[in-house]
Parts: sequence; structure tokens; C-alpha cells
Amino acid sequence: MDDAPASRRKLPSVDHILKTEAAVAAISRYGRPATVTAVRAAVGEVRAAARMGAHATFDETLLATAALARLEASSRSRLRPVFNLTGTVLHTNLGRALLAEEAMEAALKAMRSAVALEYDLETGKRGDRDDHVRDLICELTGAEDATIVNNNAAAVLLVLNSFSLGKDAIVSRGELIEIGGAFRMPEIMARAGARLVEVGATNRTHPKDYLAALNAETGLILKVHTSNYRIEGFTAEVSPRDLATIAHQRGALLFHDLGSGTLADLACYGLAHEPTVREAVAQGADIVSFSGDKLLGGPQAGFIIGRRELIAAINKNPLKRALRVDKIRLAALEATLKLYRNPDRLAERLPTLRLLARSVPELEAQAARLAPALSQRLGERRGAAIAVEIVPCKSQIGSGALPMETIASVALVLRPREKSGRALDRLANALRALPMPVIGRISDGALLLDLRCLEDEAGFLESLDALEPSDALA
Ligand SMILES: *Cc1c(COP(=O)(O)O)cnc(C)c1O
Repeated sequence: MDDAPASRRKLPSVDHILKTEAAVAAISRYGRPATVTAVRAAVGEVRAAARMGAHATFDETLLATAALARLEASSRSRLRPVFNLTGTVLHTNLGRALLAEEAMEAALKAMRSAVALEYDLETGKRGDRDDHVRDLICELTGAEDATIVNNNAAAVLLVLNSFSLGKDAIVSRGELIEIGGAFRMPEIMARAGARLVEVGATNRTHPKDYLAALNAETGLILKVHTSNYRIEGFTAEVSPRDLATIAHQRGALLFHDLGSGTLADLACYGLAHEPTVREAVAQGADIVSFSGDKLLGGPQAGFIIGRRELIAAINKNPLKRALRVDKIRLAALEATLKLYRNPDRLAERLPTLRLLARSVPELEAQAARLAPALSQRLGERRGAAIAVEIVPCKSQIGSGALPMETIASVALVLRPREKSGRALDRLANALRALPMPVIGRISDGALLLDLRCLEDEAGFLESLDALEPSDALA
């Protein structure tokens, strides 16, 4: 425009920029106050750059476009959908179970409309929000009664607080678990007001250990599923059935925290057997708790099931109100549980089981379809900087179900030809920066994309199309 130094050229006024087409579009989409803020920020940036002597743009359309880009970036949801190619099907950090279509539809209906959540449509009187799923749960597990809370951590807290406040809670030293985050059994017990009484040793606990600890101060015996580790070698534990007998002989309760808790026998789907909730109930525990978004495949929730008078006592605990679930999740849970009534179609309708049950030949065929397309996008276009191979790998269930079991799977392995860790990091970063980020796992100098959880192949390839040639991949 002119030859004056950048610092002396005049910047367009904010008002002027707000009249451009891009700014008018931004105002209609994001509102005037946000647009004005974004335009000011864009102008401020240019002014600062010009002061540093950098070559800066003074064009109002470019400034408005920069402001619009800023608004678009900040309006994108932070809770972005991602491709979970980590090989961990129930990945806690990636949101665990995917819901069935039926569950999503039910949740959507509950969101749109008033629902008879705590209202008995037959009598016109007040109802109970647990009524909607209680019968289903009892039918599927053989329990007498049930109540639902926010998650299994809440279930454990509530049960301990209801039956061992100021009393002893007896647990084996081999079962004092810590689960991801801050869920540690001794700490939850302390918050619940229970006195932790540890018995046995880390590797061996016997009936006599529990018997010696039982007294008039005992609230309950707690049996915990060791979800994320296994003690092997010279070991002994007391079975839930024997523990129930021991507890009942002395007038105490047995509470079994089952962790993942499956309603279906996983052995039917080619996986190892994980104790089912029905088995835990049949073994005589007075109360059993488990999660909604682990193997069950529903929304986040905690189930507390067991004897009717105990569930009634839990429902009278004022903490129940603080831990209860909303109508949206109850609707999704009810729809999810209903799918279990038809075991023949369960694996097809419930994403968690569907993904866990995918066979190696099916995954191999998918890998063969995807590898050339991936090669073309990552390799050839970039001077074959990244080699793409198909290799067998092992998936995990995740979220503390069958911690030692792996499931044979197939991965696309992306290996930068440059052997530095930096090349691998750049590749992983570029895939995480895609519009729908791709999350794999790094193993042995390569990025592994486990295909077990990849159902949307077209979406995956489309997402990879957004890789910029400038993404420093090569
Ligand atoms: C996962 C787990 C919990 C916590 O369940 P959330 O639903 O994640 O709150 C508690 N106990 C055991 C044994 C678990 O495996």
C-alpha cells in the first residue's frame, strides 16, 4: 500500500472490521460481544507484531477472517469425539462404554420431555426413580431389590456408610485396592466413617482370619474384586460363598464389590469367564455393587443390589440423595438392561460386547482394506517417511475386567523411517490434532493403531485426509 514503516501505517478501526462480510457472519453465529472481543484480539496481535517490526497484515478482511478463525476454534467442544485405537476397549480416560442406539434414543426422549421420573402414573401419587429399572435388574441378577447411584465408587461409599458407620469393616489385605484416580479402599472407608479392619496377609487370607476379627463392633465384611491386578503364586483367599457363611454365622453382612460386574457370561463370546452378577448374588452376598459403564455397557452408574430390607435402609440414608442419578441416565440404563433380555442379539446391539467379540479374521480383513489407504496418506505422499504394516497385537478389556486377559487383535503399525523418538512424537501429535483425533499407543518405536474399536472406517479415512502436508511428519 505504502512504503511507510509498519508501525506508522494505520490499522483499520474495529468498527470498520466489524462491517466486513466475515465479521457479519461471525456476529450472526457467535454474537456481537464475542466477535468484538475476537476482532480486538486480532488487531492487538497485529499491532504487537508490527511493533516488533514483523511484516503484518493491515487488511480488514484478513483481520476479520482471523477473528472468525479464533471464534471457531474456541467454540469447538472440548469434549471431542476421538478414535479409540488404544486397544483398551473400556478406556476410562476415553469415556468407557459406548452406548447402544436404543440407550441413546431413550436418553434423548428423556431429555426432550417431562417424564414420570418419580410419579406413579397408575395412582397419580409420588413414585420412586429406581422403579424404572428395579424389576429389570432383579430379573437379570436374581437379586431381591436394587438401587442406582452415580457410579460404583458412590455405591461403595454409600453401602459402607449405611452399614459400618462407626463400626468395623473387615477386608483382606490382599484386596485393599487402588483404582485409577483417587479411589483407594482405605480412604473411601475413612470417608464413609467405617473402621478398616485388615485381615490376613497380602498373598494369603484364611477363614480363621475373618473369624478372629468378627465381634459386636463389626458392621460388615467386604469382599473386593481385585480389578487391576492379580496375586499369583503361594496364595489363598476365602470364596464369597464361604465368606457369606462366616458373616451370617456371626450376624454380620457380606458386601461384595464386584467392580466391573457383567450380566452376560463372557465365555459365550469367546472371552475368558468373568464372574457374573448373578453368580455373586447366588453365592450369598447380602449386597453386591458394580458399575454401569464397564462391561455392562451402559452409562456411568453404580448398582447396589441385594436384600430388600438392606436396600430400604440404603434409600433412607441422606447421602443417597447426593449420589443419585438423573432421568437421562436412568432412561439409558433401562434401555441398556432391556437388551440383555435377548441374549441372541446382545453382541450385535451392545457396542461393548460387539467390539470385544470382533474376530481376528474380521480385523485382518479391515486392516488389509485400510493399510493401502493409510500408506497413501501417510507414507507415499510424504516420500514414504512412515512405513505402514499389519501386525497381530493384543487388546484389553480395560476398566478392571479380567486384568490379565488379553484378546487377540490386529493393528496397523506406523513406523517412522527416521529412528528418533522425535519423529514418532510428531506423528502421534499430528494424529491427535486431527478434527477427530486418532489415539493409538506407542510401543517399540512405533505407533500402534489397534483396530478392535474402529467401526467407522470411512470417517477414519476422512479424518486422515485432514493431515496437512506441512504436518511435520517427514
Ligand atoms: C471400577 C471399580 C470401582 C469404581 O467404579 P466406578 O464405576 O468407576 O466408580 C470400584 N471398585 C472396583 C472393584 C472397581 O473395579
